[in-house]
Formats: sequence, C-alpha cells, structure tokens
Amino acid sequence: EGGNVTAEMVDALIKEHAPLCMRNLHESLQDKGHLRHYGRLQYSLFLKDVGLPVEEALLFWRRSFRAMSDDKFNKDYKYNIRWAYGLEGRRVNAPAKNCISIITQDQPGPQDNHGCPFRHFSPQNLSSALITHYGLNFAEQAEILQAVKAGHYHVGCTRLFEMTHKKQGIKKGDGLGEGESVSHPNRYFERSYSIVQ
Ligand code: SF4
Repeated sequence: EGGNVTAEMVDALIKEHAPLCMRNLHESLQDKGHLRHYGRLQYSLFLKDVGLPVEEALLFWRRSFRAMSDDKFNKDYKYNIRWAYGLEGRRVNAPAKNCISIITQDQPGPQDNHGCPFRHFSPQNLSSALITHYGLNFAEQAEILQAVKAGHYHVGCTRLFEMTHKKQGIKKGDGLGEGESVSHPNRYFERSYSIVQ
C-alpha cells in the first residue's frame, strides 16, 4: 500500500478533514495512549485508505501508545497493524469499513471507542463532541440531534459535513457533492480534503 502521508501529518489531517467516528478514535487514542481491538482495526484501516504507508502507520501507533515498552508493542500490536496492510496471516488487503458495517457490526461496549458516534453515543455525548470538536452552534447541534433521534445517522453525519464546510461554499443539501450523503468515512475525508486545498 503506497501513500504519501507521514505519521506526523495524521493529527492535522484528522482534525481538519475526518468524520466524527475517526476524530473520536483519534482523540481517544491521544488521550488514553491506547485503543482496544476494534477501535485499532477501524482506525488503522481508515488511515491506510487515507494513504498512510505501513512503516508510517507503525511509527504513528508506536508513538501514540506512549507508555508502552517497545517489547510489548512489537509482541502484541505490530502484527495487527501489519495484518491491516495485508502483510500477515491470510494476507488479505482488507478494505476500510463503510458506515453500514461500522453502524451495524461489532457493537461497542462501555470501554470501547469504535463505532459511529451518531449511532452509539448518548445524545449528551454527541452534543458535546459536536460542539468541542467542530465548534457547532446550539441550533446546528440541535438539528443534528433531531436527525439522529429519528434514526437518520447518515443525515446527521452529512449535515455535519455541510455545516463544517460552509466557508468552502457548501450548502444544506449539497452533501459530499450532488446531494450524495455520507456512506463511507474515507469518502467524507477525501471530499473534505479536495475542497479545502
Ligand atoms: Fe463515521 Fe459513517 Fe458514522 Fe459518519 S456516519 S461518523 S462516517 S460511521
């Protein structure tokens, strides 16, 4: 898997372009210095698709698990990261997960950070994540919470994209382009990256 993203670039790219599920995984990883299995899987496949090559991915995770010894990292974590790149085990180059898989598979428990925040967060946590990470105002976060309450998680995510790209001329109903709603975290990222450059 070849890409041109470095470990150092990840933080800024995520903060500028990532959907809430990945932003949440990134912030949790930086806060705790760790992520559990499904969180690592969801985030590392996303980062692979963003263009982070395996050597940079190993560097990124090694640094993020800041309290861990090199021995433990090499023994317990390196394999899984290399696996995500199709370099271990069955050597399948697994695709990054789409929204349907993230929403419906491997439901997160209380200690987990994977999943879709629009589906899996409490309304209170979702509201505070929207305000803290994306600076939404009260009316904007209320509109998203209403969509989510009706079970329209992708609408909540698509509205977040529109609200956070107003400066780029994106309006309600534009979605990721021609009204397309969010169905994959990497499409959200790519669209944001392409219109902000
Ligand atoms: Fe991530 Fe998809 Fe949920 Fe948006 S709708 S937060 S891209 S899983």
